[in-house]
Amino acid sequence: MDVDNKAEELASALGVTKQEVKADLESLLEFDVPLEEAAQSVRRKHGGASGGSSTPETLDIESISTTQDSVNVTVRVLTQGTRTIRYQGEDVTIREGKLADSSGTISYTAWQDFGFEAGDSLVIGNAGVREWDGHPELNLGQSTSVSMADEEVAVDQPIGGDSDLIDLKPGDRGRNVEVRVQEVESRTIDGRDGETTILSGVVADETARLPFTDWDPHPDLEAGANLRIEDVYVREFRGSPSVNLSEFSTVEPLSEPVTVSDSAPRLSLAETVDSGGLFDVEVVGNVLEVRDGSGLIERCPECGRVIQNDQCRTHGTVDGEDDLRIKAILDDGTDTVTAIIGSELTEEIYGGDVDDAKEAAREAMDKEVVAETIRSQLVGRAYRVRGSLSVDEYGANLNVEEFEVAGEDPAALATAALAEVRQ
Ligand SMILES: [Zn+2]
Repeated sequence: MDVDNKAEELASALGVTKQEVKADLESLLEFDVPLEEAAQSVRRKHGGASGGSSTPETLDIESISTTQDSVNVTVRVLTQGTRTIRYQGEDVTIREGKLADSSGTISYTAWQDFGFEAGDSLVIGNAGVREWDGHPELNLGQSTSVSMADEEVAVDQPIGGDSDLIDLKPGDRGRNVEVRVQEVESRTIDGRDGETTILSGVVADETARLPFTDWDPHPDLEAGANLRIEDVYVREFRGSPSVNLSEFSTVEPLSEPVTVSDSAPRLSLAETVDSGGLFDVEVVGNVLEVRDGSGLIERCPECGRVIQNDQCRTHGTVDGEDDLRIKAILDDGTDTVTAIIGSELTEEIYGGDVDDAKEAAREAMDKEVVAETIRSQLVGRAYRVRGSLSVDEYGANLNVEEFEVAGEDPAALATAALAEVRQ
């Protein structure tokens, strides 16, 4: 349901103007408050009942759906993370994570500190149900009661939030990781309270490498450090999960170094595309095609975007800078991705730098000769490619870090990889 419809529904229920309600809703949505929750605040503000008036049912997690306004559950707390968000102009500390019973798991947000922690078995009364990304979630607020269950709730899921990097998904809260910091840099950004310094970089364990951001810099986060980091949350960054630290995250140096894999997980193209985004992955595929926009190209000196005829969409007429790059379609029989190869690797593949390419273009009186040379090198051959994959509405792009001739047959490898996954 969109804001407009919701505003209309609320306005008629509360007897106030749609304009007023809509303005209230929009200001809440700006702070990432989900629509249903924003609607409840607006209802409360105008003296309406918050949510439905029906008596909550006692349900298994599996049976909870977004058609219910509120429910009673008996559950085990799997994870609990703490964050501060800006809500109606004020900083509010919330607790989020996952609850489980024998039927399944559900995410929750607690708007006050109920004093429970991971591992606790709880009886929760009158938890609000909201929809998030098509799934029900529980909202524990002022009208919710929380008490310890008489018996431990048995669950199949691991308790406490300890995770391998490969298993982290955007939306995860209250996770703990043991990692080595591989890269770190300090940056000043324009935050909501003015200039603020953050750290960003790459962490790794035996299973994966992921980007991270520390919004409240922890001094132990140094390149090469081996750390246990508790209470991180996971967001999507350029299509892949990223580890986020807040003021509530704790960082402890580990006495033993963390084992870090030098290689990226090897997957079939179908698996990489299905993942929705991977920060570091290795695939093997045949180059089907070298696309237009490869070879000798021009970039805007301001924003670095590829331009044509000295026209940047943002910066107008500019003096374009020459560069080399390749956009190649890779195929392994399960799917295709566009591999985007930057100037350094393109120089290696082409066997010359930008000046060589310009000279070749001058001689032939055609820029396209550069792309043609690259095409004749790559098309029809198999390559082992490592890089960072992002998937958007236009397709899957693999930003290439390593590009080598493969001795193996991509289709056979992909089939083997798929078979392994299905075991
Ligand atoms: Zn530009």
